[in-house]
Amino acid sequence: MAQGFCLTGKSDTVQESRAEEKSGRAEEFRKPGLEPREAAARLKPAAETLAAWYQENARALPWRTNPTPYRVWISEIMLQQTRIEAVIPYYQRFLAEIPDVRALAEIPEERLLKLWEGLGYYSRARNLQKAARICQEQYGGKLPGSFPELIKLPGIGPYTAGAIASIAFGEKCPSADGNVVRVLSRLLAAYPDNLPDKPAAQKAFGAVVREIMEKTSLYPGTVNESLMELGETVCLPNGKPLCGACPVSALCLSCRNGTQELFPPEIPKKKRRVEERTVFLLTDGEKLCLHKRPPQGLLASLWELPACDGYLTQQEAEAYIGKILGAPVRAVPAGTGKHIFTHLEWHMTGYRVECPGSLENYGEALSAAGFCAVDRQEIGQDYAIPSAFSRWSEFWASEPSAESAKKIP
Ligand code: SF4
Repeated sequence: MAQGFCLTGKSDTVQESRAEEKSGRAEEFRKPGLEPREAAARLKPAAETLAAWYQENARALPWRTNPTPYRVWISEIMLQQTRIEAVIPYYQRFLAEIPDVRALAEIPEERLLKLWEGLGYYSRARNLQKAARICQEQYGGKLPGSFPELIKLPGIGPYTAGAIASIAFGEKCPSADGNVVRVLSRLLAAYPDNLPDKPAAQKAFGAVVREIMEKTSLYPGTVNESLMELGETVCLPNGKPLCGACPVSALCLSCRNGTQELFPPEIPKKKRRVEERTVFLLTDGEKLCLHKRPPQGLLASLWELPACDGYLTQQEAEAYIGKILGAPVRAVPAGTGKHIFTHLEWHMTGYRVECPGSLENYGEALSAAGFCAVDRQEIGQDYAIPSAFSRWSEFWASEPSAESAKKIP
């Protein structure tokens, strides 16, 4: 059944009273029964104005030049959970070394992860390669040209499939992310009732975008991209849209009502789990110990600094590593770090641990613990280390700077 657009649900009272305070015209944005088709009919003039604005004002981003399916795909995957400015250098480096599906299918995983180092969510890189291998085997080294086939590939969900299908192939597919939900809900000053989470909101507003594509002769990719562009550059989140610079302000109901801050209503975030960890910079001066993470799960198969659960005291850290090496060691505090994943936070405390003699003398003990002693200078070039450990990266990227020398006594 089609989702109606109105303001109901448990946060109504607060939202409505805030709206009444703001505009004194709360009735205007209660629209029970506004269906996707009706919503699209209302949005048609705004979508057309927006498409013309986009043609003139779109930011020059590297993936917008020559938007082949491969280039759109790589950019959309990199942009998941990652800011545009952060993605641009990665995208350019990636495309220079891996220019097509075949190169992606064939590149060694270790090198692929090195190119992805620092971008986070490493399963994205692995899924890219899995999908590229499928494209090699089943689609002649090209991405398939339709939404239903794209969405079957590893790592490609409805949003990404919609973006590739609409931008690269011109298929009438929505690609509704948080930006699109925000722009449309503000333009309409309406929001579907009883949406439990963000994916449900994106699906509901995606249905409106699909109807807009049906009702206009606009290129589907432009419909999606112009909505996203407005959301990223003008119709900003957190109650601060730049309505004075908006090309569709005259057509925007929430702007007229002064109710922009009510749309979209906030969906409460789940609390992240906190894990406390102790991290060891186990070194003999020349080499540093790394540990390879398991092939499944968080940061799968990436190299990390050896660590254990919980915060250890200095004495406990010395005992922990001393037991592994079978020799007494000295540990000194090396600062703390924090890393936030989507549903998890790592709170870390570090110790620099001096190995008594060369690490090479402890080969058996180290491999029994799953540690690998690596030349410090080689780490930066050849080993993909997640940004969770970047707090300590100066230690292996080069000789410690004056600043890090203070942090790592
Ligand atoms: S007028 Fe303001 S709230 Fe409406 S779409 Fe434009 S920026 Fe967003």
